[in-house]
Amino acid sequence: MPFSIDATSARQLDDEDALAGFRTRFVVDDPDLIYLDGNSLGRLPRDTVARARDLLEQGWGQRLIRGWNDGWMEINERVGDKIAQLLGASPGEVAIADSTSTNLYKLALAALRARPGRTKIVTDDLNFPSDVYIFQGLAAFGPASFDDGFRLRKASAQPSAQDASYQIVIVPSPDGIHGPVERLLAAIDEDTALVSLSHTVFKSAYTYDMAAITAHAHKVGALTLWDLSHSAGSVVVELNKANADLAVGCTYKYLNGGPGAPAFLYVRKDLQDELTNPISGWFGQKNAFAFGLEYEPASGIRRFLTGTPPILSIAPIEIGVDLLLEAGLARLRVKSVRQTEYLIALWREWLAPLGFTMNSPADPAWRGSHVSLGHPDAWRIDQALIEEMNVLPDFRKPDNLRLGITPLYTTFAEIHEAVRRMKRVVEEKLYEKYDAGAGGVT
Ligand SMILES: *Cc1c(COP(=O)(O)O)cnc(C)c1O
Repeated sequence: MPFSIDATSARQLDDEDALAGFRTRFVVDDPDLIYLDGNSLGRLPRDTVARARDLLEQGWGQRLIRGWNDGWMEINERVGDKIAQLLGASPGEVAIADSTSTNLYKLALAALRARPGRTKIVTDDLNFPSDVYIFQGLAAFGPASFDDGFRLRKASAQPSAQDASYQIVIVPSPDGIHGPVERLLAAIDEDTALVSLSHTVFKSAYTYDMAAITAHAHKVGALTLWDLSHSAGSVVVELNKANADLAVGCTYKYLNGGPGAPAFLYVRKDLQDELTNPISGWFGQKNAFAFGLEYEPASGIRRFLTGTPPILSIAPIEIGVDLLLEAGLARLRVKSVRQTEYLIALWREWLAPLGFTMNSPADPAWRGSHVSLGHPDAWRIDQALIEEMNVLPDFRKPDNLRLGITPLYTTFAEIHEAVRRMKRVVEEKLYEKYDAGAGGVT
């Protein structure tokens, strides 16, 4: 869609935005700060402050151990059911638990056990490194090797003929931006136990066709495990429609659950009693408070829990999710696409001539809610934006400035102004005084 890119038109777009009011539901203390990193750590909802205080003072302070009978025992599933509404899943299919990485471990191992005799885990090189580390940990579990035919080989692995080994097949993207769909489909075969991908990838925001990949995996009897960390709350996810088997994801990004808030996991209803949780703890036990020494898994999504839920960290997730449900994901997605398109229109006009490249898919149908721009000096530009321009994007190696759009609180005027400040940093060479050596978290 064509945009006029002057500042007046940005204000007009904000005036026409039916979701604009949601910004006031977040703590925004510095109106000049342009926050473009909601894809790494979402902003703090105002109601979370009151809820956290209440939980500390009333819940913990007054109710003490009685709090467990005031709803704490069910919190994993209750908040999970709300997240399910954002993911096109059904009640009883999603629970809050652990971290994304830990959930990935649990569900990947559960899937591998459910497909005995098969040796391949198929993923791509756009996946989040932690996901691939988890697969490496799994492969090292039993006798294993990394003979992928593509790129990763563990130097110490000397598989012998009788080893039952897992191969981690890391299919390379053709351009570092788009998912290697054709090669992935070719790599998924009768020997594949598990296909695991980031639905929206963390660098370029490329978003897979979940239904198509899942259908192909199912045709050959493989299971699918989707990492939704960058899609939950930002793109329309249809787990049930896609017939997806398993999924995990973050709550501290687009769900605004707070730094390090616990993650969620999804197991399709009909698979729940077929799979077993490899980290079998008392919260996944059928009757935890019988204190019997024999593990007997609970039925349903509860069996994928392990230990005591971190109540103080889960409570804020509910507030973030309620805000998304109130705004409506379909409407948020429409705004997100308009905003990333607007950002790209500004890039074309102001930043492309300064050497910035588009490192995200040009077609919004394949793009999540952030835009990566490449520049040889991206790290130093990132530093100058943070230190001198009051703009917070983030940097991902080797040369990506990631600009996260969170339609609940990002305005068109902010996007316009952020690009103007980026232009200034490069035109006036304000980044040159920063050290080229990358370090630290952005
Ligand atoms: C952010 C992110 C994670 C983070 O995992 P943690 O266990 O919470 O550290 C995992 N996967 C993807 C795709 C992510 O974007």
